[in-house]
Amino acid sequence: MRRKTIVGNWKMNGTHESLDEARAIASVAREYPGVDVAICPPFTLITAMATACPSMTIGGQDCHGAASGAFTGSVSAEMLRDAGASLVILGHSERREALGETSAIVQYKAMAALSAGLDVILCVGESLAVREGGRATDHVTQQVLQSLPDMAGHGHARLIIAYEPIWAIGTGRTAGLGDIAEMHGAIRRALGDAGRDVAILYGGSVNGDNAGAIMALDDVDGALVGGASLTADKFAPIITAAA
Ligand code: PEP
Repeated sequence: MRRKTIVGNWKMNGTHESLDEARAIASVAREYPGVDVAICPPFTLITAMATACPSMTIGGQDCHGAASGAFTGSVSAEMLRDAGASLVILGHSERREALGETSAIVQYKAMAALSAGLDVILCVGESLAVREGGRATDHVTQQVLQSLPDMAGHGHARLIIAYEPIWAIGTGRTAGLGDIAEMHGAIRRALGDAGRDVAILYGGSVNGDNAGAIMALDDVDGALVGGASLTADKFAPIITAAA
């Protein structure tokens, strides 16, 4: 049985002043024990947020694939865990596009994260040009298959997929319900038998008004939320819609 999962991606937003907002989100989340709620703040807030919100899952937004070494500015999966994170977002389009992260790099990071015991949210999604060229399903399922870590021997660490059409992220545009249903179904089929238990989240301008309809779709197990996760006022209705 797949549980509804709502994850806030704070991106490069938030300082210690934002911890009150996180506490308010955690208090809403506690009202809905049937929904898994997580916040992924910047690295600098992970420990403080994990301490301030012990009932809520805290995640990172990226990690390096190596365990340690001469990688200036990077953070390993083990370091994320040590800081208080229990999951990590990998392969977000803002990193694939701006930093040239390939699916092979994302797969390498995902293996490291699972080995460190972190749940992994693996992001995939097509650009507008790819969608308009009629290649969205092929592109996204290939991204999934090429980024997918080998799950064998990773204990209880979970793999979650987030389908996020790039043109819908931070733009106020969401994909049509038919397109979302079709893509989530295609991703689940591409995952084969194991796909039955993998949560597939939708991301891209999810808000309190559209969350209910999106999450009512069969293969949509929750949402990855950027802008609307920064305040309890905006995030709470999405958690409520999931419940
Ligand atoms: C995201 O960045 O993962 C995202 C979905 O952002 P937004 O909700 O702001 O579109």
